[in-house]
Amino acid sequence: MSDLPHPVELSDRVIDSGVAEPPHNRVIDALTEVEDDVAIVESFSHCWALRTDEGLVCVDSSGTGTGADVVAALRGWSTDPVHTLVYTHGHLDHVGGSGAFVADAADRKHRRPTFVSHEAVPVRFDRYRLTDGWNRIINRRQFGGIRPNIGVGTQRIGVGGLGAVFMPDDVAQPDITYRESLDLEVGGRRLELRHARGETDDHTWIWDAERRTVYAGDFVCWVFPNAGNPQKVQRYPVEWAAALREMLDVGADRVYPAHGLPIVGRRRVETVLGEMAEALEHLADATLAMMNDGARLDEILHTVTVPDHLVGRPWIEPLYDEPEFVVRNLYRLWGGWWDGDPARLKPAADAAVAAEVVALAGSVEALLDRAEELAEEGDLRLACHMVEMAVQAAPDHEGAHRTRARVYWMRRAAERSLMSKGIFAAAARESEATYGEETPRDRMRDVLRRSMG
Ligand SMILES: [Zn+2]
Repeated sequence: MSDLPHPVELSDRVIDSGVAEPPHNRVIDALTEVEDDVAIVESFSHCWALRTDEGLVCVDSSGTGTGADVVAALRGWSTDPVHTLVYTHGHLDHVGGSGAFVADAADRKHRRPTFVSHEAVPVRFDRYRLTDGWNRIINRRQFGGIRPNIGVGTQRIGVGGLGAVFMPDDVAQPDITYRESLDLEVGGRRLELRHARGETDDHTWIWDAERRTVYAGDFVCWVFPNAGNPQKVQRYPVEWAAALREMLDVGADRVYPAHGLPIVGRRRVETVLGEMAEALEHLADATLAMMNDGARLDEILHTVTVPDHLVGRPWIEPLYDEPEFVVRNLYRLWGGWWDGDPARLKPAADAAVAAEVVALAGSVEALLDRAEELAEEGDLRLACHMVEMAVQAAPDHEGAHRTRARVYWMRRAAERSLMSKGIFAAAARESEATYGEETPRDRMRDVLRRSMG
């Protein structure tokens, strides 16, 4: 741990050079005091702690898998009671550790912390209980891509979905909720909680005017904004960008995010938040312009991209979510669920379409040969369509599943984002489970051989 650079030094270096120096999302459960009476425990999510005369104010509790280690790290810095804990939003990597904070208070005979959040957080908790099975399945798929390339220590992340229930019973309900804004005063420290939609509908960011510091929650996360997640509810890219602009307008000199590195210095804040906002605004403007021209989703998806000068910037790399998914989310926000293809308004079953294509091609094998060819040529998007149709037309065809698994392992290897990697790996495993002979080592050897050859 001691060989890792100080988070602020690392941040300064990356922002000033514009060159990534991974990992900058560090799940190390190590605490750093970044200024007097303010500390970060770098985890998934981070927990920020402010020392006041009446006890600690914490921002986020970290996740289910990391909460106890985060509390232990915090206790190496301060044994003061945790007076208040603000949830920046209700995702499990931010609220899942709350049980550990409550248990710690009980052990130390402290008063239970007061939990504060936006009013939509308890609504989210209700939804998580309602859609428990769905959420467990999608999170297993999302984070199941093997060694997600978003940071160190991510195998320990407590994002939900890996246990028997999605949201553990010991997650603390908020004691105080608010709608637009809330002034919090604890032990001489004054914090303004402000609501904005972005990654979620229940997000809070915090303004500490005295220190000119923003606690940004997931509005800043050192990866491309998670505003497009393919398996989850609506996100709000336009309002996300507006919230970043507001953080700039209030005059933030320091931005302390829930993932990634602290951003210190006005110029660096302007660079990172400005570029994040610009990327989202560009996707939104371009998507809206095409929608207003009557374009189909398909056309929009294959046209709208992030401007060249923002590609490769270390704080918006598509390692978690992707711009393409954000475009889809914008279409969903402003349009309906229909993509504009009349055949897909009331479509035939996928298996029926696949059977027609197989009949036209002459055999399932013809599709599989074509899939292999396309994959070797590097057109993995098209190769995936071929293998999907092959198994839909012939679900018991072992060769079809073998080719499908191979193509999806190649696809996974070619992708950068955790979400794509997870979904494509799940597809490969799904086919492997139908014949189930290969060991993981065989599979990796096969993937390596193919991706190198
Ligand atoms: Zn998060």
